Formats: sequence, C-alpha cells, structure tokens
Amino acid sequence: MNILFRGGDVVTETETIIADLLVIGDKIVSVGTDLPVSDARVVDCSGLILLPGGVEPHAHFSLPMFDTISSDDHFTGHRAAAFGGTTTVMDFTSQSPGSSLQQSIDLSRTQASQIAAVDYSFHVNVTDFSNDVAREIPSLPLQGLTTLKVFTAYNGRLRLSDDEISKVLNISRENGMLVMIHIEDGDEIDRLVARALSDGYTDPIWHARTRPAHGEVIAGRRAISIAESSKAGLYIVHVTTAGLLNQIASARKRGAHVMGETCPQYLFFTQEDLLRPDGANWVCSPPLRTVEDNDALWKGLSDGSIQTVGTDHCPFFADGATAIEFDGQQLAIPGKELGKSDFTRIPNGLPAIEHRMSLLWHFGVSAGKLSMQRFVELTSGNPARIFGLYPRKGTLSPGSDADIVLWDPSIKHTISVTNSHMRTDHDLWEGVEVEGYPLQVYLRGHLLVDRGKWLGKAGYGQFLHRQANAPIM
Ligand SMILES: [Zn+2]
Repeated sequence: MNILFRGGDVVTETETIIADLLVIGDKIVSVGTDLPVSDARVVDCSGLILLPGGVEPHAHFSLPMFDTISSDDHFTGHRAAAFGGTTTVMDFTSQSPGSSLQQSIDLSRTQASQIAAVDYSFHVNVTDFSNDVAREIPSLPLQGLTTLKVFTAYNGRLRLSDDEISKVLNISRENGMLVMIHIEDGDEIDRLVARALSDGYTDPIWHARTRPAHGEVIAGRRAISIAESSKAGLYIVHVTTAGLLNQIASARKRGAHVMGETCPQYLFFTQEDLLRPDGANWVCSPPLRTVEDNDALWKGLSDGSIQTVGTDHCPFFADGATAIEFDGQQLAIPGKELGKSDFTRIPNGLPAIEHRMSLLWHFGVSAGKLSMQRFVELTSGNPARIFGLYPRKGTLSPGSDADIVLWDPSIKHTISVTNSHMRTDHDLWEGVEVEGYPLQVYLRGHLLVDRGKWLGKAGYGQFLHRQANAPIM
C-alpha cells in the first residue's frame, strides 16, 4: 500500500523540516512539500514528528547464562523494541569453545528467522580464537555479517589475550569489518571476586565493588593502543565511566578510529541502586557507577565523544520462582534469585530495549541536552552507518526502507511493568513519567504499532545483509 505522511516535522541529521513523505510499498520514495496524493492513503501528521525507525546496536535475546536464559526471545524482544520506536535490532551470536563461528551463526539465524518481528542482524562473538577461526572470519562479510566482538574480561570463558585481540583487529581491518569490544579488567575482577568471597561478602553490591572503574580505564587504554597500532576501527560497547570516555575522546582527537556506545542504565542509575532490597535487578556488566559518571556520559552524548546509545538489553526475572501472566499464559523463567546467596551467581543483565528512545527523548531532547538531530544520530543514524546498514536504515530519505516512527511529543507515558512489553516481572524505570512517545511505528511500510496496539507478527522481521567497509563515525 502507498502512504502519504502529510505535514509532519521530518527530522533528519542535519535539519527538521515540515514536509510530506511518500511511501510506495516498502520504501520511502520522496520527501518534500505538497507531494501529490495520487492513490496513496493519507496520514495526517500535523503536530507529529517523523523519525527514522530506531536502530538498536546491542541486545541479547535467549542468552544462556548460568542456569537460565535471558527472558526475551527474538519475538518478545523485537515486539518490545517496536513499541518503543525501534525497528532494527542487532543481537550477538557467540562462538562455543572449540567450535566454528559458522555453527553459532547458523543456530542463531535459525532461532531468529521463524519469530523475528523487526529487522535484525547479529554481531559475531569470537571467544576461542585459533588459526581455523582466523581463516573463517573473511567469509563472514559474504553473509552480510561485518562485525566481531571480543572481550577483555570473563577469564577462561570469553576473554581473548591482547595478542589474539590484535590478530582479530588486523584480520577485520583487511576485510572491511569492525571489532566491538567489551572492556573490563578480567584479571582484576578475578582477584577481587576471590577476595570478596573468601571474606564472606555475597550481597549484590559486591558485583560492582569487584568490577571497579579503574579496571575499565586500564583495559580500555590497552585496547585503544592495540587498535591504534593496528590502524583498525574499534567500537567500545557500553562505556560506563568518565575515565574510559576521556580515553575515547583523546584517542579520537589524535585521529584514532575509536567509537563508543553507552546505555540508558549508565545514564540514570548508580552503584547505590545495588544496595536496594531488590539490588540484584541492577546487576549488569560492566556495573553501574557514580553520578559523576552519569553526568560525564550525558556530556559525551552531546559533545560527540559517544557515537551511539544501545541498551545491552538482557532481562532476567527478579523472581523466577513466581509465574507472571504474559501473552495470556502463566510464565516463570529462573532469574535473579539464582544469586540470592552469592553475587557471582546473579544473572547479569537488565530490561531496557523498550525505553531507549523515550528516555533519551524526554531526558535528552526535552531537557535541552540533545538536539533532535543528535537524538536521531545516536538512536538510528550512527548505528546504521557504523554497522553497514545506511542508508537503507537510519534515515528518512528517498530509497530508504519505510521504517518510520510517528512521534507524538505530547503523549505522557508512565513507565511501568504493567504496561511495558518486555518479558519480565519488573521495570527499573517503574513510575518514571516521560513526555513524547511513538503514536505509530512502521517497518518497511507495514504498521507494527498503532496507538499502543500491536499489529505486527512473528516472522515478519528480515535478516539484514550488512555492508563491509562501513564508515568510522
Ligand atoms: Zn552485551
């Protein structure tokens, strides 16, 4: 069906113009004033803002952890993303020890393809580097997979040595790929965890105390140096500290190809939240930090030192022993209670994917910290560019997919587990009121969400073939 979006505020990364936007089939064909209606259905957009569908660079669905899995799958997580205005989601597929990358890719693609509700791709975690893996990496861009992820923490499980990270960076540079990196100091964490446990400290706060800010700064400094000497691009996921942010900013100033992502939880919460009675719900890695770090990260978003906002969405039930009603069924998935007597057994992660756009709008744009253009860059334009999806995604331009959010700046929405769509039993932003929310959300010209009503379906989401040699932003 052809749709003419008439007279909305169309936000691009350079300007906001009152314009019409014509969609034919699944593509935007023109943006301009007084476009002819011809045979299109007209949607009156006066008073509304037209945004590109959000691009979520970082989520984990059905991720196995300890004795459970993260509680959103590729349907429920995608649907929650869409309710919040996000129409493209990137998840991770993780190499199993001793296996090829392809095995995990095939498994993840099969899992997602049946149920995906928005468009999607995967980043490929390299956790067990070998000559075979080195030979395998160049085949990934042919499948549209252009990003690898490595870790400097989780010793003995996910971590690669600096030498291996350097090799992965070189191979990725030669093949037009990008390396993403989880930055924490694995050695320091192991030392501090062993000491805390032997001293009998088991509460959630010790999750944060054993993963200190200086570890992020030290490991970040090393990783940036390795990337600089390889002349390779490096995308640092979930930056949490002012210290690492400063490293990124100064590396960028001297021309290094380093980019950073942060997440809503690191803008809103602190280590103190782990001291609450439900502190386990705030356990994520890296951990929450301080108010000074929150402030520095907001500043990094506005001054351009940080390129994207992802969520690292990875929910677990607060009380997986008690069923909730979800999609008309009783459901319980083991969760945070697994770590009741040992902070190292608390599943790491939290629910956020639905709130990314509205939180950043209300507390960023409306609060005067971010322009609308910067909001679009952070939530869709930059992730689309960096991950090889631009201009198909991340912009409202002729030729782009008709992924369109009709954003109503006057809708007041109170965040609550009772009206959120993420499959879990709690919400960290419970009771927070935001002003500005999606009225309608379209994916490739197809209406997914209309005034809070779900019209999408499992299996409609497409796997996205991403382009290599994406720009460094
Ligand atoms: Zn993550």
